[in-house]
Amino acid sequence: MKTPSVIVVGAGIGGLASAALLSARGFDVRVFERAPAAGGKLRSHDVAGRAIDAGPTVFTMRWVFDSLFADAGARLDDLLTLTPVRTLARHAWTGGPAVARLDLAADLDAAVDAIGRFAGAADARGYREFCARAGAIHDALDKPFMRAGRTGVAGLLWRGGARGLPGLARISPFATLWPELARHFRDPRLRQLFGRYATYCGSSPWLAPATLMLVAHVERTGVWLVDGGMQRIAEAVASLATRAGARLRFGAHVEAILERDGRACGVRLAGGEVAHADAVVFNGDVQALATGLLGEPARRGLAAHARRWDVASGRSLSALTWSVVAQTSGMPLLRHNVLFSQDYAAEFAALAAGRLPDDPTVYVCAQDRGDDDAQATAQEPQRLLCLVNAPAATQRRSLTSQEIDACEKQAFRRMALCGLHLEPVATMRRTTPSDFATLFPGTGGALYGPPSHGWRASFQRMGARHSLPGLYLAGGSTHPGPGVPMAALSGGLAAQAVSEDLVSTSFPRPMAMHGGMSMR
Ligand SMILES: Cc1cc2nc3c(=O)[nH]c(=O)nc-3n(C[C@H](O)[C@H](O)[C@H](O)COP(=O)(O)OP(=O)(O)OC[C@H]3O[C@@H](n4cnc5c(N)ncnc54)[C@H](O)[C@@H]3O)c2cc1C
Repeated sequence: MKTPSVIVVGAGIGGLASAALLSARGFDVRVFERAPAAGGKLRSHDVAGRAIDAGPTVFTMRWVFDSLFADAGARLDDLLTLTPVRTLARHAWTGGPAVARLDLAADLDAAVDAIGRFAGAADARGYREFCARAGAIHDALDKPFMRAGRTGVAGLLWRGGARGLPGLARISPFATLWPELARHFRDPRLRQLFGRYATYCGSSPWLAPATLMLVAHVERTGVWLVDGGMQRIAEAVASLATRAGARLRFGAHVEAILERDGRACGVRLAGGEVAHADAVVFNGDVQALATGLLGEPARRGLAAHARRWDVASGRSLSALTWSVVAQTSGMPLLRHNVLFSQDYAAEFAALAAGRLPDDPTVYVCAQDRGDDDAQATAQEPQRLLCLVNAPAATQRRSLTSQEIDACEKQAFRRMALCGLHLEPVATMRRTTPSDFATLFPGTGGALYGPPSHGWRASFQRMGARHSLPGLYLAGGSTHPGPGVPMAALSGGLAAQAVSEDLVSTSFPRPMAMHGGMSMR
């Protein structure tokens, strides 16, 4: 009997995870990717002959990849070298008599001591309580929600069971992040530091649910440096997939998902080539389907999503980034650095209005630095990714080049005010929201799918199954959400759904997945 065949559209981390798991399971898998290389948002820029990570830079939840590699019959440590950091990030603020700095250690006691010295004993106690709460939120949502295929509130309550209900009530599921931070921290700078975690989902701390505190827990339990750069993660998962038999084709833009007899039956590539399969996994943004970019069969049933994301609650954030090789002076850099604006509320009000902020918070990833101050004052030119949050294009407006130039000036001014001076040794590469919109069709430059605004948002993301039988969804715009490990989890959930649905007499039924990637 014929081996069931699957086409994966997109070689982002979610698509690659699906391809690796399905091919390891014996499916005949082909991946069509429009870009010239694997990785999607995991990408790098070449500046002055050196590769700079130009997408994600913070790698967390390594267990997701340990599990993915194990399920595909390999060991993560054989393909990637990962080193945990002791200092999660260096933070800087202006506004006082001198620039204030706080290094946040992964170790709880060390962080409590540093916060005590920075903001006083009450906030040190507040941080301990905050960490306990972030851990409780994580534990309440991890298995019953993030690792589970069903996305709705009802499913969460069902899986949490009788013991889970009080746990869920304790995490204040209906509260908003910003006011909740005020319960833990008197110092507004600490609210700014921990409120920033909402932006990991492309959201505003004033609108995001307090449950996003769980990001703080995830970071505290492990941030890793990836030897060779973040793109190595995509290369490693791509090699996992090809070793298991998946065939990856680049420069292959899929322009339509085809339907026959009420099922997805394949794809049509730009240029007209048609490829048939028993199932299609779509790893692009769900908004591309919802707006009809991949044809009518894939759009049907998603129109309501398109309306809700674009008009009612807006899109998630985009970014304006600069890949730079520069001689740095002044503020010594660790790997991850955040230089805060003086008025966070004004920054997010501007973003919500579709404008770039006058005084943006700047994140600087110094790729040649670790987390050790001894290495922080280097003489050699540094590889840097500088990033500010930016609005995605909406139906109402997109940014002008004058606005972008003005924001660039303010971003470099913010760095200088914090004591960080850059002298680029080569032309820097700027990526704007409209560049991201071109790279990732249907997004308008929004990098995280729908925003996590309001308590319902996380439960409204699409799950692995599209309403068109045979079509599956994987990636950061779907459940459980954005971020490299979350997109990989979604790829595992899509692979699981395909495996369950395509089971046949010649193909042994896979065992249920109990809270992880495992399909065995
Ligand atoms: C600047 C930036 C910083 C970030 N920082 C972090 C961070 O520090 N840590 C973290 O965990 N996450 C971070 N993220 C988020 C993270 O990168 C994403 O959530 C994750 O990589 C998304 O993976 P995905 O599976 O959704 O695929 P994507 O990366 O979205 O890739 C989708 C792929 O599908 C392809 N595709 C789309 N449509 C078609 C088509 N029609 N035909 C063929 N191919 C198609 C695209 O070309 C692309 O390669 C960041 C993202 C950005 C952009």
